[in-house]
Amino acid sequence: MNRRRKFLLASVLALQNSSFIYPSCQKCFSRIILVSKRSNCPKCGSTGEAENAIYRYKLSLKVAESNKLFGITVFGSCLDAFFGLTATDLHRILKTSMEKIQVPVTSQTSAQTTRELKHL
Ligand SMILES: [Zn+2]
Repeated sequence: MNRRRKFLLASVLALQNSSFIYPSCQKCFSRIILVSKRSNCPKCGSTGEAENAIYRYKLSLKVAESNKLFGITVFGSCLDAFFGLTATDLHRILKTSMEKIQVPVTSQTSAQTTRELKHL
């Protein structure tokens, strides 16, 4: 892996992946597998509790610089400042929002649910 830092001043044309956070191994940063309440890293074998899983940003972008197109992937906490929170905190908010949406809608709660959805 090339560890030299490179700067690229480019225009973002498109986001290539719709799922831009992933549960990450705390040791090797690989994607971990969450099964029931346990987490498992297929790469280094690290295990843990699923509820303690940390999340990491992975943003795949199509960018343009001068007349060239590039596909780049930006990983990790350098995106915290861009999003205004860590990937783990963003995942927590998304999870809470999804739980609100999955509440069964009855005639009494539909107005309230509609209001909540407008705030998402
Ligand atoms: Zn690992």
